[in-house]
Amino acid sequence: MKKASVYDNVTKQFNKAADLMHLDPEIRKILARTNNEVIVNFPVKMDNGHIEMFTGYRVQHNNALGPYKGGLRYHPAVDIDEVRALATWMTWKSAIVNLPFGGAKGGIQIDPFKYSASELEHITRRFTFALGSNIGPEFDIPAPDVNTNPQIMAWILDTYLSTMPAHERQAAVHVVTGKPVESGGSIGRNKATGQGVVFTIEQWAKDTNFDLEGAAYFVQGFGNVGSWASRLLKPHGSKLVAVEDVSGAIANPKGIDPDDLYEYTQKNKGLIGGYAKAKPIDHETFLATKADIFIPAALENQITLKTAPMLNVKLVAEGANGPTDPDGDKILHEKGTDLLPDVLCNSGGVIVSYFEWLQNKRSEFWDLEEVDGKLHRKIVAGYERVRDTAREHNIDWRTAAYIVALSRLETVYKERGIFP
Ligand code: NAD
Repeated sequence: MKKASVYDNVTKQFNKAADLMHLDPEIRKILARTNNEVIVNFPVKMDNGHIEMFTGYRVQHNNALGPYKGGLRYHPAVDIDEVRALATWMTWKSAIVNLPFGGAKGGIQIDPFKYSASELEHITRRFTFALGSNIGPEFDIPAPDVNTNPQIMAWILDTYLSTMPAHERQAAVHVVTGKPVESGGSIGRNKATGQGVVFTIEQWAKDTNFDLEGAAYFVQGFGNVGSWASRLLKPHGSKLVAVEDVSGAIANPKGIDPDDLYEYTQKNKGLIGGYAKAKPIDHETFLATKADIFIPAALENQITLKTAPMLNVKLVAEGANGPTDPDGDKILHEKGTDLLPDVLCNSGGVIVSYFEWLQNKRSEFWDLEEVDGKLHRKIVAGYERVRDTAREHNIDWRTAAYIVALSRLETVYKERGIFP
C-alpha cells in the first residue's frame, strides 16, 4: 500500500488557514514551497568491512524569521515527502511561539536498531560530513527527533567542528542543539518537549475548569516525548491507563506508574513489551481506551478517518508531529474533542533548543529553574495566542495555530519585500 502523504496533510492544513485569513496570494506562493531540499547519498564502512550506501535528507522550508531549525530522524519511513512536511511544521512552530528561527528537518532512511553503536556513529559522522555547509550555527541547526538523541548530537558536533579551522571551532558549538549537557547542551532540553506538552495541558485544564487530579490519560510512544509527558503528568495526580510503542500496547485501568515503566524500558532496549504490571492489548483496544486525555507521541497519521471515531477522550494533546490527518481533525471537531495541535503542543523542544543556542552563543549556563520558567512563559504565551485566535474566528485550534504563524510571516514578508 502506498504510504499516505504527510505533505498532502500539511498542504490541506495550510490552504484551509490561508483561505480563512485571506493570506496575501503572493506570500502564499512563497510559503507553499520549501526553500531548499538536500539529498545526500553517502558510503559507510560497516563492522564487517563492507561498504553500505545510505540516503540522508535535509529540507529547509523557510528562514524569513531566522536560521533554519529542526530535528533529524533515523527511521525506515523517512523520505522526501515526510521530511518536507516536518520541515514546514517547524516554520509554523517557531512562528507561533515567537522564536527567531525558520523551519527545517532532516533524517536518514534507516532502521537504526539494525546497526551497532559504532556503525551508527560512522553513519552519523559521514552524514554530517556529506551535509557540509548545508548546516551551520547561524544557518541551519539540527536537533534530536525520532531515534536520535544527545549522543548522536555530540557526534554531529564533533564532526562539524573537526572540519573547521581550529580558531573558529569554539564559536560554532551552537551548530546543533539537544547535545549532552557536558558537551554544551542545556539543562532541561531532554524533557523539554514532554514538559511543554504538560504545560499546555495544564493551561487547557485551567481554561476548561478540568481537574487533572484523578484524570485518566494514555500515551502512544514511550520515547523521549511520551515518557517525559507521562512522568510529568504524574505529580498532578493523573493516572496513566494505557501505553503503546513499537513493541505493542499495554493497559491497566488501575494505573501504570510511568516512572516504574520508564525504569523498566531502560533495561529493555527502550521498549515497554513484557512489562508485568499491565496486560497486553491490541491496537484497536488501545485507541478505544476510555480516558480524559490522549497523548499521541510516536509517528504521523495515527488519528484518521478510520481511527478517530474510536477515540473516547475529552482532549488530544499532540506530542508527535502530524499524528492527526485532516479527516481525523474533522471527526474530532465534530465529536467535540478538544485538540492541542502539534505545532503548539510539542513546541517545548524547539523552545529549549533556542535557549541552548542562546547559552552557547553567550557562553552562559542557565539552571533548571531559569530554563523551565522561560519555557513556561513562552509556551503559555503561544497557547494564549492560539486560543484567542480560535475564539475570535470561531475555528478549530489547528487552523488558529496556522493563522498565528502565517500572520507573523506575512507581516515580515510585507515589511522586507522581495529581493531584488
Ligand atoms: P523517540 O524515538 O524517542 O520515541 C518514539 C516512540 O514511538 C518510541 O517509543 C517508539 O517505540 C514509538 N513508536 C514508533 N513506531 C510506533 C508505532 N508504529 N506504533 C506505536 N509506537 C511507535 O522519538 P521522540 O523524540 O519521542 O519523538 C516522538 C514524536 O514527537 C515524533 O513525532 C517527533 O517528531 C515528535 N517531536 C519530538 C521532539 C523532541 O524533542 N524529541 C520535539 C517535537 C516533536
